[in-house]
Amino acid sequence: MIIKTLTVGPIQANCYILGCEETLEAAVIDPGDEADRILHALAESSLTAKLIINTHGHFDHVSANKRLKEVTGAPILIHSLDAPMLNQLSSSAAAFGLAADNSPGPDKELNDGDEVTFGNTLLKVIHTPGHTPGGISLYAADFVLVGDTLFAGSIGRTDFPGGSFEALKESIRQKLFVLGDHVKVYTGHGPPTTIGEERRSNPFVGGKCLLLRLRAGGGIVYFHKGFLSPFLFLYKLGAILDFGIRILNLRNSVHNKLIERSDSINPKFAI
Ligand SMILES: [Zn+2]
Ligand SMILES: [Zn+2]
Repeated sequence: MIIKTLTVGPIQANCYILGCEETLEAAVIDPGDEADRILHALAESSLTAKLIINTHGHFDHVSANKRLKEVTGAPILIHSLDAPMLNQLSSSAAAFGLAADNSPGPDKELNDGDEVTFGNTLLKVIHTPGHTPGGISLYAADFVLVGDTLFAGSIGRTDFPGGSFEALKESIRQKLFVLGDHVKVYTGHGPPTTIGEERRSNPFVGGKCLLLRLRAGGGIVYFHKGFLSPFLFLYKLGAILDFGIRILNLRNSVHNKLIERSDSINPKFAI
């Protein structure tokens, strides 16, 4: 598998070119801008674009759809719930003081569980809403492209129309974390990461959050104190745990507030 990453446009979105080494057929994921650069990268590796796939409908991931389709003739695929966003690009970009051409409509609307193929490569479509209603991840055994659902050490913004923090958390925990720790994660902005790394240490959805569940355990330890004084050490342990949990909880609530306000969330300008 050939995987090329091009960081494109003013919002610095990651466009990925996936190429089948045997057939040299390719899929272009999230052509957000700089169509000519993407076309050059395809030609450089003698790849023929057979599919254009958008992980979601934000303009920084789809703005080069039009030119890319004109030149390559490749069909545009996007989840059905984000498909209407393709003809609202000029207005959504204008809100950021930027210009963008509308995209042609989708040639095929995707849904959870669909499979897309190019050359000898198969990608499984996983519906991961939260950042947008129709956000998808594309999974192929040892890697997954997640768009703006998950970032290295962060998560996607949920303050845009149709965004939902609860849905995003559920998508990440129930649909991405189950793929396996070894799976490499290619994100919509910033560097790649792994499922294992984010499951263990992502401050919004990772293992540190699970420590909050120990709060219940802390309560049991206090219970022991009243009835079984020899277990005083457990009380001390409980106090230490509880203190740590309170700190984590405070941090978590600050993070949640940041997400709700989200103008300060990292990565800085990810859309
Ligand atoms: Zn983005
Ligand atoms: Zn986005």
